[in-house]
Amino acid sequence: MDFPRLLVSLLISNVFFSVLFFPFAEPIPSADEDRSIINPSCCLGPKPSSAVRKNWTCRSVTPASPPITDSGCAVWSEACSEAVLGLASGPETVELVRNIRRKIHANPELAFEEFETSKLIRDELDRMEISYKYPLATTGIRAWIGTGGPPFVAIRADMDALPIQEAVEWEHKSKVAGKMHACGHDAHVAMLIGAAKILKTREHFLKGTVVLLFQPAEEAGNGAKRMIGDGALENVEAIFAVHVSHMHPTGIIGSRPGALLAGCGFFRAVISGQRGRAGNPHHSVDPILAASAAVISLQGIVSREANPMDSQVVSVTSFNGGDNLDMIPDTVVLGGTFRAFSNTSFYSLLQRIKEVIVEQASVFRCSAMVDFFEKESTIYPPTVNDEKMYEHVRKVAIDLVGPTNFRVVPPMMGAEDFSFYSQVVPAAFFYVGIRNETLGSIHTGHSPYFIIDEDVLPLGAAAHATIAERYLNEHG
Ligand SMILES: [Zn+2]
Ligand SMILES: [Zn+2]
Repeated sequence: MDFPRLLVSLLISNVFFSVLFFPFAEPIPSADEDRSIINPSCCLGPKPSSAVRKNWTCRSVTPASPPITDSGCAVWSEACSEAVLGLASGPETVELVRNIRRKIHANPELAFEEFETSKLIRDELDRMEISYKYPLATTGIRAWIGTGGPPFVAIRADMDALPIQEAVEWEHKSKVAGKMHACGHDAHVAMLIGAAKILKTREHFLKGTVVLLFQPAEEAGNGAKRMIGDGALENVEAIFAVHVSHMHPTGIIGSRPGALLAGCGFFRAVISGQRGRAGNPHHSVDPILAASAAVISLQGIVSREANPMDSQVVSVTSFNGGDNLDMIPDTVVLGGTFRAFSNTSFYSLLQRIKEVIVEQASVFRCSAMVDFFEKESTIYPPTVNDEKMYEHVRKVAIDLVGPTNFRVVPPMMGAEDFSFYSQVVPAAFFYVGIRNETLGSIHTGHSPYFIIDEDVLPLGAAAHATIAERYLNEHG
């Protein structure tokens, strides 16, 4: 089935699908604007205008013109991007990525338990005769395509699902009670396998090596950090990754230079005093009062110490003391989260949260212990896009979807463990829209109603493949 026909059939059959938990702050396009992106009629008439032709969903699947010769894309041109798009939107790739996404969606696995997902990926890699190393970080895979020599560029997908009960009724609904791919990682894996297929077909054009990383445990457990520890970034000089987003219509690609996603950490403090009768408070050491003072003082860190131009958050979300109305308790346990967009601000917040709680406790003769769960890997540094890598994504996206379908997005307070890669090598993270009002793919990531528009899959595959091949072309 060619791409326009596929799109029409998807729209007619009202196939479902998914998104991301970081809301874009940009206005959501109206339904009319959406139709301009997904209206299939422009695919069925005479050759569309160049403005429309730029629209992904209307792009012809005929071979690139002028044809790419065996000398490859010595100098990258729009024809090279169109050749990749032609492969991505061909019936074989479309069917492959859709089937893989549906299989993984129906069989979700949580962090570090992605054994069947990983096996499915390795089976596909075997079928395509693509070499790989396994396991990294328990279930992760490092595959490679190309010359085997430098430069090495990496593209990454996350594999884990969430502990959520799917509320969407459809043919490929999760078969596992209480587990669901509600963030689109099933789509990310399918896109990366689609890219692998395209890149394998074009392997003789590659001027270096593409490394494909399938990683576990993005949602919990810092899978990226463990992948790096197991050699995922060996020789790699740049890395890219995509996330689906319900805030933009299918066919839109978005990113930004610099800070894109916040660093995220959690804290839990135990403030200890001395239990005693509430009617005689002078015989006790009151941790309720100490903890209350600490909560108030924590609010002063961002409002009085942080540069107002540097967005930061400290939120106390939990406060638990005694349960006897006539007794002052021994201890109070409080906790919360903190966010910042630079490593300096992020680790400064961590330090000050600890100091404020410990010092405020001591003012009221209490002691305090503060835990940041570093051992449980709940700290995610900020995700910062390298300016040059962002520019590379922007160039590729504009070639694929046209300038009007690329958006510079605002930074968001959500977090991503891709940040660990971005701390090691130049990196860029970008979004691809999945919003389609007709299909109902309007729900935020981590919602039990999360749905994606599967038309995004070949576009994601094309974006990955073009980013990687063009990077090698321009740096090899
Ligand atoms: Zn998520
Ligand atoms: Zn996610």
